[in-house]
Amino acid sequence: MSATMSEAVKIHPAVDSGIAPAAPDFSGGTLSCHCATDTVTVEVKGQVAHNHVCGCTKCWKPDGSLFSQIAVVGRDKVEVTAHGEKLAVVDQSATIQRHACTVCGVHMFGRIENKDHAFYGLDFVHTELSPQHGWAPPGFAAFVSSIIESGARPENMGAVRARLNDMGLPPYDVLSPPLMDAMATHVARQRGVLKD
Ligand SMILES: [Zn+2]
Ligand SMILES: [Zn+2]
Repeated sequence: MSATMSEAVKIHPAVDSGIAPAAPDFSGGTLSCHCATDTVTVEVKGQVAHNHVCGCTKCWKPDGSLFSQIAVVGRDKVEVTAHGEKLAVVDQSATIQRHACTVCGVHMFGRIENKDHAFYGLDFVHTELSPQHGWAPPGFAAFVSSIIESGARPENMGAVRARLNDMGLPPYDVLSPPLMDAMATHVARQRGVLKD
């Protein structure tokens, strides 16, 4: 078969026609919201880590996309450089405070303000908002089952997971095992269960 059913499954525009590799010594780029005027810009001064596609209902997704694409970078590397007055936090009660453009709705960065959280110090960014090439590409798919909560058909999940595996994005229904282990390790150290 030259075209399997899974090839027809669209995941995200940044990965559907092939995943571009990271550029060596990549130094970051500028994220822009979708507004044609008074565009919000955010400077990311460095390469991202843990890039992945995410099926949760909270991450910003391009129109019609099943998944978002989201990565982390140190919060000291993230700076709003234009029209920060248009930004507002989408959900103050969420662990990740997603700062979105109040006009076009694009999430410009997500920040964890809880100093006790395993991922405190990291911001979450959508590298596709930048014209620069060379960002670390996605390496897995998180919260895959959650796309059903956004309206994906449960009976198509086998095809979605097959497509993700074909792309080299192993599908997980929470985060990847290394990130889940990092969170559990953090909790165990906080509780004194792990002492080193
Ligand atoms: Zn905007
Ligand atoms: Zn998400």
